[in-house]
Order: sequence, then C-alpha cells, then structure tokens
Amino acid sequence: MKDNNFLKENNAKHFWQPMSHPADSLANLPTIITEAHGVRITDIDGHETVDAVGGLWNVNLGFSCQPVKDAIAAQLHRLPFYSTFRGTTNDAAVELSWMLRNFFGPDGMARCFYTSGGSDSVEVALRLARQYHKIRGEGGRTKYLSLKKGYHGTHTLGASVNGNANFRTQYEPLMPGCFHIPAPYAYRNPFNESDPEKLVQLCLAALEDEIGFQGADTIAAFIMEPILGAGGVIVPHESFMPGVRSICDKYRILLIADEVVCGFGRTGDWSGSRHWGVKPDMMCIAKAITNGYFPFGAVMIGEALAETFEDDTSGRGAIGSGYTYSGHPVGAAAAIACLKETERLSVKDNAAARGTQLFEGLLELARHHTLIGDVRGGHGLMCALELVSDRGNKTPIGKQTSALVSKTAYENGVMIRVSGNNIILSPSLIIEESDIDKILSSLDAGLSAAA
Ligand code: PMP
Repeated sequence: MKDNNFLKENNAKHFWQPMSHPADSLANLPTIITEAHGVRITDIDGHETVDAVGGLWNVNLGFSCQPVKDAIAAQLHRLPFYSTFRGTTNDAAVELSWMLRNFFGPDGMARCFYTSGGSDSVEVALRLARQYHKIRGEGGRTKYLSLKKGYHGTHTLGASVNGNANFRTQYEPLMPGCFHIPAPYAYRNPFNESDPEKLVQLCLAALEDEIGFQGADTIAAFIMEPILGAGGVIVPHESFMPGVRSICDKYRILLIADEVVCGFGRTGDWSGSRHWGVKPDMMCIAKAITNGYFPFGAVMIGEALAETFEDDTSGRGAIGSGYTYSGHPVGAAAAIACLKETERLSVKDNAAARGTQLFEGLLELARHHTLIGDVRGGHGLMCALELVSDRGNKTPIGKQTSALVSKTAYENGVMIRVSGNNIILSPSLIIEESDIDKILSSLDAGLSAAA
C-alpha cells in the first residue's frame, strides 16, 4: 500500500467521490479506511471505530464473513466470468436463482433478473413494468408514481422517481411522466398531521387523487421503499403499504417494492414488504445480497408478471434489458454463501432485538439533547435522528453542527452517517449489545459537543 501522505494527497487531487462536491473533498480530507474486521473499521491513521453505517447499509454480516470471502475466492479460481446473455448461463447464477426464489417465495416472487447494483435494479423493474402493460395490450400505461423523500438510485429513471431535489435538479430535464405524492413523514408533511395513522389516510387519498388526475390507464407502476432509508428512515404507519397495495390493485397499477436497503433482514423480517404483510409485483434487491463484497443486484419478479412474459407469443415479452455483469458468477457465488449465512445466523432476529435497543437508547438521548427533533426507527436496524436547532420551529441544524456531532462521535469510537440534518444509523445485523451501547455513548458525546 502507498504511504499515508501519498494517499491523502492523491485522494484530493484525482478522485471525484460520489455524492460529494469536488471542492469539499479538496478542503476537508475524507477519512481513508484501510481495514475492517467484524463491525469495526480502521482508518489510515490506525484509529478504530464501530461502523454504525454498516458499510453503506450493505455489510449485514460484518466485514469478516469468511464463507463469503471463501466463495468469492473459489469462484474466481474456477470460473471468474461467463455471460448469462441468451444462449449461455453459469451454474452459480442458476443455483442462486433457485435460492432467491425460495427465500422470497413467501413474498410471491417467482423469477430473478440480475443486475450490477441497486440503481440498475430500479431501472430494470421500471422498464419491465411498462413492458408488462405493453404485452397485455395496455401500452398507454407508461407513467410512474412514487413518494417524495424516496430514494431509488441515480440512473435517469431512478432519479426521475426519486423524491429528493438534491439528486434531481442538476440533471433535469429528467424522464417525463413521473409524479410524486407526499411521504407518510409524520414529523414534517404538507398536511400538518402528526398522527401517523391519520397521515396515512391523507397520503393514500393524495395517491388516489393523483391517479384520478393522471388517468389510471396511463400509469404503469408505483415504486416505494417499505421503510424509506436514505430519505431519513421514514417509517410509515403499518397501514400505509397495505393501503398502497389495495389502491394499486384497484387501478391495476403494478407495485414495485424497492428493497435495496430493507431486504435480507434489516427491518427485522426478511423483506420490508413481508414486514408490512404486503406482496408486491416486483422487488428491487442489491446491497446485502453479497454482504457488500461484490457489486450485484437483482429484480425479483412476481408469479403473475412472470406468467404474462412467459405466455407471450407476440414477441413483446423479449427482454431488452441486460448488463455484461448480469448474473456474474463471482457475485452469484458470493450471494449464495451470503444467503446461507444470513439464514444460518437468522440475522433478522438480531436486527429486531438490537434495533429495539438502539431505538430505545435514541429515545433516551432525546430526553437530554434538545438538538434532537425527531427519533425514527423501531423496526430493525435502521434508525435516524433528525437534528434541529430549535424544537419549536423544527429549524434544521446547519452543516457545521452536524459535522461536529459526527467528528466527536468518530473521535469517541463510532462512525455515523450524516445526511442533511439527519444522522442515519444502519449497522451490521450481527452487531452485539455492547457495540450498540458504544454507538449510543459516542452519539451522546457528539451531541453534547454540538449543544
Ligand atoms: N434504492 C434504494 C432504496 C437505495 O437505498 C439505493 C442505494 N442507497 C439504491 C436504490 C441504489 O443502489 P446502488 O447505490 O447500489 O445503485
């Protein structure tokens, strides 16, 4: 490895980091991580911290998951690549399809289509939705509906259904025909409604109103995260997703669950949809599918949708989407090992238990720290603190204050993720009780420093 000075200097000079302003990386050197074990990461200066981010919500089994590492090494040795485009496939991708079909069978999923990550999965699902309607002779159904505050990756279709202006404005004009309804975000919403259950009724009414306004026969799909992740862990009341499902059924609109964050146990169940008791028509998955060790993703396709494509005799069912790395054998081998470990350790149970511990600890912190405007979570290992400088007016804290919270937490042994005025916590699902305590005490120190 190059020496520390070389790395620090060249990161700033030559590396444009995603989701960053190039000028910021020059002014404030990012933390360079050089090693990780279990749930801990070590930076270039040898400082070790608990990673409360879990990589990027993806390293569910921690950084030392040997079976996944071994599977990657063995697959690289035996078959490092072979395409799955028409005419050829590879054994790892076939075995994985069988496993995923079983894993997501209770969600009504029947087939897999492979991608290289979450943004790809969203892109493919949205394309398949239009194609499904075309096969059925309803080619006028081309529009998409989604939630404000939702995050669906950064490809153009994904950015178009994205509900956060930060990922849209610089790239407009985006895809026409994408419309957003308010998220069931009890802390801030246009209805000024803080009761989560009543808020759901208002959001569902807004959805139905938008469908009426656009014309149901122009809409292909509604896409949503079962729990909104990047938007600040917005947890809808349990009636929301079932309500969306029944409205979609009523108007024959496909429901796409973006499970890129929620899938594989993070919510305390094996999928976010299952957590809410809903069967979507398609599921976008990525991230934890390979524990973050290999870029990989998939779209899971429901039975009815699959049959429509498979029964097509017009030729309209031919899939014109695909990536060189769709079904990459090394990614597939990683995912097979990952699924086995995920089930063997039943990480969803630990996610539920440790998630409750974390959420209750955060509620406790909110009793002492007036910077905390809202605490969100309570469903597995995804929590957020929304920080405000004034609780009455809910004024978001400034960048400097959030930077101080995170810097102090880091010095006290925990890496947290700041997104706007939210602190997002999404550690590995194998995390232990004492590490959650550590996250809470470091946050306490960070919040005290910024008070
Ligand atoms: N959907 C959701 C819900 C996500 O959280 C993300 C990534 N954070 C994506 C899609 C995009 O995934 P990727 O970054 O792997 O392209």
